[in-house]
Amino acid sequence: MGLMRLLPRPHDRSRRVGESGSDDMAEDAGEATALHTEDDSGNVAQVHETAGGELRQQPLVPTPVPASADGTSDLRVIALANQKGGVAKTTTTLNLGVAFNEMGYRVLVVDLDPQGNLTMSQGMNPDSIERSMFDVLVHKVPISDVVEHREVDIAVSSIDLAGAELALASMIGRERSLEKALIEVRDRYDYILIDTPPSLGLLTINAFVAATGVIVPVQCEYLSLRGLVQLENTLAMVRENLNARVGVEGIVATMFDGRTLHSREAIEILEENFGDLVFRTRIRKTVRYAEAPVKGSSVLKYDPTGSAAEAYRELAKEIRVKREAHAGQGASGGA
Ligand code: ADP
Ligand code: MG
Repeated sequence: MGLMRLLPRPHDRSRRVGESGSDDMAEDAGEATALHTEDDSGNVAQVHETAGGELRQQPLVPTPVPASADGTSDLRVIALANQKGGVAKTTTTLNLGVAFNEMGYRVLVVDLDPQGNLTMSQGMNPDSIERSMFDVLVHKVPISDVVEHREVDIAVSSIDLAGAELALASMIGRERSLEKALIEVRDRYDYILIDTPPSLGLLTINAFVAATGVIVPVQCEYLSLRGLVQLENTLAMVRENLNARVGVEGIVATMFDGRTLHSREAIEILEENFGDLVFRTRIRKTVRYAEAPVKGSSVLKYDPTGSAAEAYRELAKEIRVKREAHAGQGASGGA
């Protein structure tokens, strides 16, 4: 079945979402409420359709702000988020973390998903864990108390965390619980990567508030553009109210299979709509990613010389290069 372009091509702002009326890869295009375009200077922007039908444009990526006012802190806190399950959030959190660690960076990964897949993927059983991120977020236990030292440092999850949304809901400062917990360890790490659950609830909001940037893994097999729009709308609310500097740092295409037209078209659609936000590095589909966590290890340790490990090393390098380019822009454009 033919695939439509859900969103207009860059520079073609006149077309509305869903206008061509055929089917998206996975979505009912007619229900989308926002679209992404690129302005003449190449900046990706989001265009919201207001109730009156006019278009209001806001930048998708905020201007880079140094991590601290004096610019001394180099810490990056990256939330891996996508409210869809099974897109490789957990796989990307661990393997990217281990790749940064190989490069010499100090890395903490945080398991913020009550399912505890990240915790399991380092060989621990979330059911037998006594204190977890639940106690950190709800009972203000220092985060260092729940950090285990494995391939990288990992702040563990347990099934208790499923009750955190409810317990946090009635607390003052409920969105800032993780941000506050990270203050204790912020000097110990260069990268903190946060794995989030498949929802845009309070746990994920906590990750957005604590983060300097968000990386969105998307599955080439099932491209959900409407999901990306919802995610960006949530981030826009967080920017307005809680954390002005957070934005999508990049979109990473996962489970890519170059032999299928479907996968190639997914990449094409992503690049048409999100331009440079889409990382050049694609994570190919391979069973290695499912095998490694069963052994309690990252793919970089499980199959160090394989192409699956190499892909995450490439992604880590690309993120670092992008970050340096951004920092340079911030410095030269700050006058
Ligand atoms: P999420 O955290 O978004 O739910 P996971 O990282 O748990 O997603 O990945 C979902 C499943 O897909 C897991 O079984 C994982 O091992 C597998 N997987 C992840 N990345 C790939 C890939 N590139 N190729 C094949 N399988 C993958
Ligand atoms: Mg997961």
